[in-house]
Amino acid sequence: MTTHHHYVPKVGFVSLGCPKNLVDSERILTKLRSDGYEVVPNYEGADIVVVNTCGFINAAVTESLETIGEALVENGKVLVTGCLGKQKELIMEEHPNVLGISGAHEYEAVVEAVHKHVPIAHDAYSALVPEQGIKLTPRHFAYLKISEGCNNTCTFCIIPSFRGKLVSRPIEKVLREAERLAQAGVKELLIISQDTSAYGVDLKYQAGSWQGEIYQTRLFDLATALSRLGIWVRFHYVYPYPHVDKIIPLMAEGKILPYLDIPFQHASPRILKLMKRPAKSANTLESIKRWRKMCPELIIRSTFIVGFPGETEAEFEALLDFLEEAKLNRVGCFMYSDVDGARANDLPDAVPEEVKQERLEKFMAVQEQISAELLQQRIGLVQKVLIDMVDIEEDIAIARSQYDAPEVDGIVAIENIKDKGLKAGQFVEVRIIDADGHDCVGELV
Ligand code: SF4
Repeated sequence: MTTHHHYVPKVGFVSLGCPKNLVDSERILTKLRSDGYEVVPNYEGADIVVVNTCGFINAAVTESLETIGEALVENGKVLVTGCLGKQKELIMEEHPNVLGISGAHEYEAVVEAVHKHVPIAHDAYSALVPEQGIKLTPRHFAYLKISEGCNNTCTFCIIPSFRGKLVSRPIEKVLREAERLAQAGVKELLIISQDTSAYGVDLKYQAGSWQGEIYQTRLFDLATALSRLGIWVRFHYVYPYPHVDKIIPLMAEGKILPYLDIPFQHASPRILKLMKRPAKSANTLESIKRWRKMCPELIIRSTFIVGFPGETEAEFEALLDFLEEAKLNRVGCFMYSDVDGARANDLPDAVPEEVKQERLEKFMAVQEQISAELLQQRIGLVQKVLIDMVDIEEDIAIARSQYDAPEVDGIVAIENIKDKGLKAGQFVEVRIIDADGHDCVGELV
């Protein structure tokens, strides 16, 4: 009996915001697919549209609300999920016609709502879902979420208030997922969480077994085990606690990528204290020096906030001095803005908008110079890169070296590739022949 002539309902899906949100989207899509829905990337052909929102900063809130509005105009049947779902009144006020609202990680609620509004025929044709799930990211790299929630109480952040305390995934679960992804052809794993250094604290580092070995649920064991997969492993959102030192030798030995994404946010001890940042009393410059000594190839990415309430001119200058000295490779910077519900809103001495703007520009100018100098040093080197995309018409391939994380860092553009048969997900060697403040150009060797 063939069931292919049954109508397969189509769900339009829009995923906004951070990489963490992408992971949630993938879970929802996997479930919808296995329930027999088809997922489409546009509004027109869809029977219903799911918007996975982000509410981390006010700019993201605006983008989310706009996208919901757009989906309502283009399609009309809209479900909202994700971080912004926490602010139901706000959504209902602007868009009273949405069919349903759920919050971050409420996978089942979203899927249920889809079933309710677009029921699926009992024996509908059901596509087989690959065991590794549906990936929104290109197949050759994947985000691997190791925990949910956060035990910190940074004053500018509301994540813990809606995602709750840290809940780590047991090590054997994480490793099995990583193994499946690698078997499915993933060449690069991006380890994400809210606080990667805290991994396993809540589980008292409980042990689990994988491939015949025992590992504890903790950062070092995770890094060690993942290195056995023989693919690129990149760690994000690491805080500079002392035990981070233990994974640096793994980087030096080439077992995991020599890449640390540490959101420092500021350099002034007083501001860090006002921010209530984890590891706020760590001597950051000392740590950076020590790590670079252990692993000269180490690339450090970070993000900062300028114009935090109470930030004085002197404290801002101290931040610039820190940048000059730390010479971080990749840096993002945000102007402080109030987030509804965050305690930092109530701190005294808010920095005026125009001063924030000025500081942001100054900060970026200083860092641009540093990044450019560091990238110049790559010219002439031969590096292994992973190809993300090939455009035969433009005769160009977009790739990344081990120093460049997808979506946030720069790229390595490779020219003259027409007859080379390159494919996304392939590793090749290139010689870096040019660089600007952000990206490099390479030629195949
Ligand atoms: S570490 Fe701080 S900024 Fe990050 S999620 Fe936790 S509370 Fe928010």
